[in-house]
Amino acid sequence: MTGIHSPALVLFSGGQDSTTCLAWALDRFSSVETVGFDYGQRHAAELAARPIILERLRRLFPQWQATLGEDHVLPLEVLRAIGGSALTTSDPGLPIETGASGLPTTFVPGRNILFLSAAAALAWRLGIRHLVGGMCETDYSGYPDCRDETIKAVGRALDLGMDAQFTIHTPLMHLDKKATWSLAEEIGGSALVELIIGETVTCYEGCRTVRHPWGCGCGICPACELRARGFERYAAR
Ligand code: ZN
Repeated sequence: MTGIHSPALVLFSGGQDSTTCLAWALDRFSSVETVGFDYGQRHAAELAARPIILERLRRLFPQWQATLGEDHVLPLEVLRAIGGSALTTSDPGLPIETGASGLPTTFVPGRNILFLSAAAALAWRLGIRHLVGGMCETDYSGYPDCRDETIKAVGRALDLGMDAQFTIHTPLMHLDKKATWSLAEEIGGSALVELIIGETVTCYEGCRTVRHPWGCGCGICPACELRARGFERYAAR
């Protein structure tokens, strides 16, 4: 534990990556608040998982009870209104595949830029200057808004635009999925790994009915594939 005597705001979606980031932040910062975004995502099960994960974290890790503060959910329905992504429900028929742009059809243009802007605005109001996000450019499905360079550029724009000095922490940026599972174990042992397996939702279809060693999911979509492959490598270590 490094011990940072400042509050942090974690972008917490209810998926594996952001849950690992939340634990990472709880282990470091003096207080931690969370923010999630309702943007009409196809995998709405992810949003439903958030309060369950927060409750389990409080129950399983008494040392984090006082650190884990308020949870915020912000509507960002503009992404759904824009549509054009297989992840937003305005185009329910759009298959998950590589699109004409060369990017996966699950790419939601501007999503992380909007998320970071909204999170920073909330943080600004709360007097918080540390943001934590699960963006990762290692196994990133080709999303350009997960790149370290994008996040750094957005951070610079936020500093200028709000006349503030934000620090955006992306602890998973250079980790692959195997290393993300290992990081969870390092922070919270097998209890945290089990919580992530049991409660977090990564699947693009939001499937919660089929259970695998790595958690629930359709087992077919790219997000499930990535999670399963990472878990298999982690379990075989
Ligand atoms: Zn899936």
